Amino acid sequence: MSAAIEISRVSKSFGFSRVLDDVSLAIPAGSVCVVLGPSGSGKSTLLRCVNHLESVDAGTIEVGGELIGYRRDGDRLHELSARAVARQRARIGMVFQHFNLFPHRTVIENLIEAPLLVRRESKAVAIARAQRLLAQVGLADRAAAWPRELSGGQQQRIAIARALAMEPEVMLFDEPTSALDPELVGDVLQVMKSLARSGMTMMVVTHEIGFAREVADQIVFMDQGRIIESGPPSQVLDAPRHGRTSAFLSTVL
Ligand code: ADP
Ligand code: MG
Repeated sequence: MSAAIEISRVSKSFGFSRVLDDVSLAIPAGSVCVVLGPSGSGKSTLLRCVNHLESVDAGTIEVGGELIGYRRDGDRLHELSARAVARQRARIGMVFQHFNLFPHRTVIENLIEAPLLVRRESKAVAIARAQRLLAQVGLADRAAAWPRELSGGQQQRIAIARALAMEPEVMLFDEPTSALDPELVGDVLQVMKSLARSGMTMMVVTHEIGFAREVADQIVFMDQGRIIESGPPSQVLDAPRHGRTSAFLSTVL
C-alpha cells in the first residue's frame, strides 16, 4: 500500500516555541491513524499542516503523492498560490471540534455549497449526493432543518457529511467529539467507524480510547511536538514503551 499521507521531518515553531519537532509519519491509503497526546503537544498543529492551514518551517507533507503547500523547483520549494492551495484543500476533508456549520443555511444548503462553488457541479448532482450523505450519517429527514435546530451530535454528523460532499481523498478529524455531551458522542463515532470501514484514509485526533482500539490501524503518541511512540493499538495502548504514554493513558482511560 502506498502512503496517502506522508509527513517527512516536519518542524514548526510559533515564535521561539517549537511546536512540531522533526515529525515523520506515513499513513497508508485506506488506513486509520489515531493521534493521541496531552493538550499542547502539537496534535492540532500537525493536522493543520496537512491541509496547509499552517505552513511548515522544515520538512514536507504529501497527500496522494502531491506536495502540499509548495512546488518543487530543483531542490528548492516555492510556496503555492492561494488558488493552488485551495485546490489541494478540496481533496482533504477536515472536521473540527466546533462544527462550524453555516448558521444561516439549511442542512442541505450546507452540504451543497462547496460542491456548487468549488467543483461547479450542477444543483441536481450536488443535491443527490447530499441526500445520499445525509442518509449515510443517519439524518436523511433533516435536510430542511437549520443548524440551530439540531443537537451538537447531529451538527457534527452534518459537518462530516459536508466534508464528504467534496469527495475528499483523506479525512482529518480534530477532536470531533470533545465538545459534545457524552450521550451524543456514540452516534458521531459510529459514523466515523462506518467511514473507516468504507476504506477512507483517516487521521483522527481524539481522546476516545475505545474508538482508537477498535478502529485505528496505527496509533501515534505525541508529546512536546514529537511522536514519541507509534504502533498498532495493542502495542501503544496495552504495552506502551514510554512512561509518558502510560501516564497519559491513565488520565484518559
Ligand atoms: P494540541 O492540539 O496537542 O493541544 P496545538 O497544536 O494546538 O496542541 O498547540 C501546540 C502548541 O502550539 C501550544 O503550546 C499552543 O499554545 C501553540 N500554538 C498553537 N497554535 C498557535 C498559534 N497560532 N500561535 C502561537 N502559538 C500557537
Ligand atoms: Mg488540539
